[in-house]
Amino acid sequence: MRVFERLDELYAIGGGTRRGYSPEEDAAHELAAGWMREAGLEPEVDAAGNLIGRRGDAQVWTGSHLDSVPNGGKFDGALGVVAGIEAAARLPDAPVGVVAFRAEETGPMGSKRLTELPAAFLEVHIEQGPVLERLGEPLGVVTAIAGQARGQVVFEGRADHAGTTPMAAREDALVAAARFVLHVRECAREPAVATVGAIEVEPNVMNVVAAKVTVAVDARAPDADALDELVHAIGFEPGSRLDPAAMSGAPFEVLGELLPEAPRLVSGAGHDAMVLAAVGVPTGMLFVRSLNGGVSHSPEELSSEEDVGLAVDVLTRALERLAAVE
Ligand SMILES: [Zn+2]
Repeated sequence: MRVFERLDELYAIGGGTRRGYSPEEDAAHELAAGWMREAGLEPEVDAAGNLIGRRGDAQVWTGSHLDSVPNGGKFDGALGVVAGIEAAARLPDAPVGVVAFRAEETGPMGSKRLTELPAAFLEVHIEQGPVLERLGEPLGVVTAIAGQARGQVVFEGRADHAGTTPMAAREDALVAAARFVLHVRECAREPAVATVGAIEVEPNVMNVVAAKVTVAVDARAPDADALDELVHAIGFEPGSRLDPAAMSGAPFEVLGELLPEAPRLVSGAGHDAMVLAAVGVPTGMLFVRSLNGGVSHSPEELSSEEDVGLAVDVLTRALERLAAVE
């Protein structure tokens, strides 16, 4: 299958490490530009370095990103670009565009700097989680991309001798922080999620009661009210907040019509589609089942040829319908 061969070619650049705006990402964009020409698209590079391959007056775009995290997987981002080029090749007369955004993993930087917006956008992406695999389903229709709130909570205690200070006389910041970590977990009700993934302990010495602990909180929910509630329940002041983005309009409806039985999912990860939806572009997103338990941002990331084939078929039909309307 040509899509898989191309994913292998992209993966060979940098051995799965293609940071945004690096020579490796440049090389991936060059490769994709050649494939776009073969598919009958005219590639152009915008001021942010995004690669946009167009046919005619393309108002309907599909695509994703070609950068990766260090030692990332073969599918994250690249699948959406390669699948888009494949779908465009199958629709030789349709006015469609395929875009490879710059530096998604470290921003997204490229999609945020688009100077021109399409009338509709569709992104195919590997799920990067275990939900479709658990359901035994190859494809899922994304309904929304979860909003994120991040912040730090500081617990102050008192440094004391670990041998001479009676238990009742301690002010142990790490014990307070440990209770808080469990509290965070209890506050997150499906489909919301909340995580403490980093803590700093001071002085971080085995025989000293912890004086100060800083806990990092990452909370995500599919709509703004649910995110507010989650932040309130946890009780922290977000240092940064990204609003949830609902998938909507013709791209979302067409995916729903083509896949009436497919599971509806909320994306817990951010994507270029989130950026386009946030600025008002009607946007749809199609998830392809992750194998290996949903592992991603890892060389173990995997989707099957069969599932990818289905995704390309659905994307082709969706683009055909959208391009006929726009
Ligand atoms: Zn991605």
